[in-house]
Amino acid sequence: MARERIVGSGAEKGDEEEFNWALRPRSLAELIGQKAVVEKISISLEAARGRGEPLEHVLLHGPPGLGKTTLANIIAREMGVSIQASSGPALERPGDLMGILSNLEEGDVLFIDEVHRLPTVVEEFLYPAMEEFKINFTVDKGAFARILPFQLKRFTLVGATTRAGFLSAPMRERFGIVHYLDFYPVRELQDIVLRSAKLLEVEVKTEGAMEIASRSRGTPRIANRLLRRVRDFAQVKADGRITREVARKALELEGVDELGLDGLDRKLLRCVIEFYDGGPAGIEAIAATLNEESDTLVDMVEPYLLKIGFLARTARGRLVRPPAYKHLRLAPQQGDKGNRQGLFDR
Ligand code: ADP
Repeated sequence: MARERIVGSGAEKGDEEEFNWALRPRSLAELIGQKAVVEKISISLEAARGRGEPLEHVLLHGPPGLGKTTLANIIAREMGVSIQASSGPALERPGDLMGILSNLEEGDVLFIDEVHRLPTVVEEFLYPAMEEFKINFTVDKGAFARILPFQLKRFTLVGATTRAGFLSAPMRERFGIVHYLDFYPVRELQDIVLRSAKLLEVEVKTEGAMEIASRSRGTPRIANRLLRRVRDFAQVKADGRITREVARKALELEGVDELGLDGLDRKLLRCVIEFYDGGPAGIEAIAATLNEESDTLVDMVEPYLLKIGFLARTARGRLVRPPAYKHLRLAPQQGDKGNRQGLFDR
């Protein structure tokens, strides 16, 4: 079931995309947070530039909305090259990649989002391209089929994925540089809100920015989206300025609580508590009970609940942890299941 969530971390569409494009940091210096990743990338960039070579292939993994696409664009910009963007599901056949690859100039960046969703045939077509900048082009069919090797310019593949575990081993091994983007601490999200507010010319108090940040579930994309809603609220219901109180009221109205959880998060937690005695419950069973896609739960809902310790992933399924009961003001289940340090927790 497709749904619109204000705290959904999925890619923005329509005017939100345009809006976020304007807020996107354009250089490593402008990027807020992810210090360790930024430092390592800047070393790789400087080294590649020093050698006059394209950057090695880069894999960026981590939950949605944390800056993978932004970083891919920054990499291209800092290398002074163009970027071509596509995504795993969009590349159905080798032929879909053929045109893109043969048009790349020396050093260009090819960004493939959701790289774990590339069909196997496309993946295999990509291996020689990544390794030797060659593709094997098949002409004719059946008995007349001939393979013509085609030399490409040296390019950099930047792959992004929310599920590094789903990437095949040969694919993963072909990336020379691999970085994990983790959720942002509230302080950094506050800086992101302050920066975005400045670009949007909205007056926001430090505490107002903090209130938005602490409800953004560690995700810049959500911080920007909440800022947009709070801005509207401030304009209509207050004097346009975003104070802590204005932010709190606006976000309460949106059903986003003080930890950034919305109705879907609470539904998931309650489902495991009420239908499965706090767990463990398999994700497919939870998805069926909630009438949601399991991919949505795994990509968009679970990561943050796991991060804040509300949910634990065990070999036998998901388990609701004590802090979640406390937050929902529910008593732990009989037998105190939720309080037990799960045998399968690690
Ligand atoms: P992903 O590709 O990981 O899903 P994006 O790169 O599309 O995430 O980032 C989502 C939005 O969040 C961007 O449009 C950008 O405005 C903002 N953003 C992401 N990372 C940062 C950051 N470190 N500093 C400031 N804004 C950021």
